[in-house]
Amino acid sequence: MEIYCPKCEWEPRAEDRWMCKCGCIWNTFDTQGVCPRCGYVWRDTQCLACHQWSKHHDWYHDLPPIEELMKQNELEI
Ligand SMILES: [Zn+2]
Ligand SMILES: [Zn+2]
Repeated sequence: MEIYCPKCEWEPRAEDRWMCKCGCIWNTFDTQGVCPRCGYVWRDTQCLACHQWSKHHDWYHDLPPIEELMKQNELEI
């Protein structure tokens, strides 16, 4: 699973921290955007590099399925 900002491709590290409105400071990617203190669900996450907000879900990038890669190769041949 790759995690990076959908706007600028900045990758959060384990030591990066976000702050909840309750004052809790934690790494939001450890909990999929859920505050460990008050349980608030952050559906949007702010990038610490470009400061833009994106859907928390959009930060997770899976590699394309292998069928997709094979299709691309066929087209190139
Ligand atoms: Zn960004
Ligand atoms: Zn909170």
